[in-house]
Amino acid sequence: MTINNLKYTMKLLSLRLAAFAAAALCLFATATGKELTATSPDGAIALTVGTDGNRPVYSVNYHGTPVVKPSHLGFIINGTTLGDNMKVKAHCLAGHDDTWWQPWGEEDSIRNHYNELAVDFVEKGKAGRAMTVVFRLFDDGIGFRYIIADPAKGQPYQIDEELTEIRLAHDAEAWSIPTNRTEYFEGIFERDLLSRKDTVCTPLTVEFDNNIYLALHEAALEDYASINLTPRPAADGSVTLLTALTPWQSGVKVYAQGEKRTPWRTIIISPTATGLMVSRLMLNLNEPSRIDDTSWIEPGRYIGIWWSIHKKHDTWELGEHHGATTANVKRYIDFAARHGFSGVLAEGWNPGWGQGETVTYLRPYPDFDIDEVCRYALSKGVRFIGHMESWGRSQLIEQEMDAAFKWFSSLCIRAVKTGYVGHYFDGKELAKSQYGIRHYRKVIETAAKYHIMIDNHEPAMPTGIQRTWPNLMTQEGVRGQEYNAWDRRGGNPPAHTATLPYTRCLAGPTDFTPAIFNFSEVVPGTHPHSTLAKQLAEFVVIYSPLQMAADAIENYEGQPALTFIESCPTTWSRTLWPCGEIGRYVTVARKERGGDGRWFIGALTDEEARKLDIPLTFLDSHARYRAIIYEDGTGADFESNPYPMNIRQIEVTADSVLHLSLARSGGAAIRIEKMQLSSH
Ligand code: CA
Repeated sequence: MTINNLKYTMKLLSLRLAAFAAAALCLFATATGKELTATSPDGAIALTVGTDGNRPVYSVNYHGTPVVKPSHLGFIINGTTLGDNMKVKAHCLAGHDDTWWQPWGEEDSIRNHYNELAVDFVEKGKAGRAMTVVFRLFDDGIGFRYIIADPAKGQPYQIDEELTEIRLAHDAEAWSIPTNRTEYFEGIFERDLLSRKDTVCTPLTVEFDNNIYLALHEAALEDYASINLTPRPAADGSVTLLTALTPWQSGVKVYAQGEKRTPWRTIIISPTATGLMVSRLMLNLNEPSRIDDTSWIEPGRYIGIWWSIHKKHDTWELGEHHGATTANVKRYIDFAARHGFSGVLAEGWNPGWGQGETVTYLRPYPDFDIDEVCRYALSKGVRFIGHMESWGRSQLIEQEMDAAFKWFSSLCIRAVKTGYVGHYFDGKELAKSQYGIRHYRKVIETAAKYHIMIDNHEPAMPTGIQRTWPNLMTQEGVRGQEYNAWDRRGGNPPAHTATLPYTRCLAGPTDFTPAIFNFSEVVPGTHPHSTLAKQLAEFVVIYSPLQMAADAIENYEGQPALTFIESCPTTWSRTLWPCGEIGRYVTVARKERGGDGRWFIGALTDEEARKLDIPLTFLDSHARYRAIIYEDGTGADFESNPYPMNIRQIEVTADSVLHLSLARSGGAAIRIEKMQLSSH
């Protein structure tokens, strides 16, 4: 089936199911104080909504187990509480089931199947302010959002705080990064009891009990402040997660006028840890694509003049060792063309990096002939990737972005990496505040106008808006590989990439920049704390539609391991997570889109060596396959001997079990391709 056929079929399916979606049952509440209920389509998740007399409350059960005990809803708006004197006025039940197609991603089509309960609350007495809370129950979790009905009668107003509570029925081990002391979400995920944690960023991953895992986050963050959660243990053993929105300098959380729709508050609920990764709940809670023709949006692999700068061999600024020179970038383009990379990034191509230089994105450094480089790249089937580092000066980007994107587009540049290193946006506001969120969105929408894809560094945490704006390809918001170049405390620990898939990566694509092949040090003791095979595994495990092979090309030349990266796609038709434990190990199996339906498997472990058996039941039955396995070689060990890697081939079928042996902080990367009938 061609992509267009597939799209057409999806469209038909959507139309057919739209009729079902329209069937809604809306009722004015009859008996006061009566509780409203709804369940997920499979019945496993049960929601109850009502008031505790005066305050709106909701609770959630999973297979009969209380997960969220009665928790309050509301706001402080213009200094007064909305939510302490309310009654249910009406409610509306609806169902929805359709399937939509992704231009790129971990799956080609996504089912959006939920039951919805919308509850209208109104203040008793004269003020009569109102809000609707819309709950959507999926088989894999819930989302809810507020629609605040114009509380200031057309005048501007401020949200001083959102009072949403998520009162988990009991304390539990959880993984998160702290809000305070963490910049750009570049922290190590810390495991601890919820009750012992200070305010945390989301995603927050919770091992609620042996059979219930939770991931709390938000979806469709638009013109609002990013969420943080503050755990507050109670005497009955429950732990209430209080909403702590990221403030403006003024202390106000959100400025608004008229009706205000908040982002969705989301809780993925899964019987297994690996089940969290399969959920598409946040994507489903975002609006469909606003880009009609997505043909110019092209996922792919890229390389760049980047690691060599972090390792201090090259410089960003002009000078003897300047990295982004015409000749050097052409060398990278040649390498990209030879080895199947579609893009070449060069940081430091534009003025602004040297002392006292004025930053601009509208002309290159004098030793970088951008017209010639872009022409040369195109002649080789490669595209130059632009870069806009702002040092937190979002206003500068807003001033120049129209002209810059227009110019880049005329040079056939399709992707731009943006960066915001700096403590505050424009010297005053937090990147995660409504101020920053507005800016990021402006950049994405403006880029779309000029057919530019965005790779955002120092971003807001992804919330699924790539469904609406699929030119938002990938984002940093992670403690990435770069720490293995210059971190004074030694770099990322072995458990880091065994934790990210269960935490940060749940939010969306992650530009971690994997695949370092040369572990030499500039800062003593700082290098990737992994084996070489684990670096390959990270290329498959950590999803990014624009995936960087981050090392300098000298370190790839002549390396057999590169043949895995050359073959590895960055967009998939299916993704499965066969086995794993949070922070200990992870395995993923991804099926390529189109072609012969090759499968790519990644497996990696923390500092513990591990034997893993992966049944290949997902392969087509009756077909014979060849598995090319890149694995830790004899004696491989992340501390004493990281490089030994073995490449072997075996024949497999859907009945086979793949036996993998991972070294300490080791990994394996496997390509499985159908054998031609004629070959035997
Ligand atoms: Ca960074």
